[in-house]
Amino acid sequence: MDAASLQIRLYPDPVLTQVAEPVGAVTPEIQALAQRMVELMVEADGIGLAAPQVGVSKRLFVTRDPDDPEAAVVWINPTLEVIDDTCASSIEGCLSLPDIDVSVVRPVGIRITGTDLDGATCTLESDQHIARVWQHEYDHLEGRLIIDRMSTMDRLRSRRALRALKGR
Ligand code: ZN
Repeated sequence: MDAASLQIRLYPDPVLTQVAEPVGAVTPEIQALAQRMVELMVEADGIGLAAPQVGVSKRLFVTRDPDDPEAAVVWINPTLEVIDDTCASSIEGCLSLPDIDVSVVRPVGIRITGTDLDGATCTLESDQHIARVWQHEYDHLEGRLIIDRMSTMDRLRSRRALRALKGR
């Protein structure tokens, strides 16, 4: 894998609907992958990016650091736990689905546990927007996209953009 050549994959690329494989050891290759993902996320002005979105079916995602917009956080083999199951709806976009916005209902409080680039286990809890980002990116590791969560209205509204993507 040449990390520098990785690019963001767009729907309907089949890698986006695969269940990703766990990451083994945190090798220099994984570090290069994470670094490239951060680069692509920042370039695209995104707030999160999962490895399947760059064509690598591994359980790894990056997000902006909610406490420091200049920094990024890497989650390897993350697991999520709902700590507040109050649900809220919010509009989400996805770098693999340009021009498509979907109103997604998710629980507000999440605890995330995963490994960082040094191989250390990290845990964070949030009931802020980042908790939604974790769930969106985790969905990518399960091969789930926001278009799987669209209401009939969303589907009608996104018809043209979806057709354009499929017709590429
Ligand atoms: Zn996405």
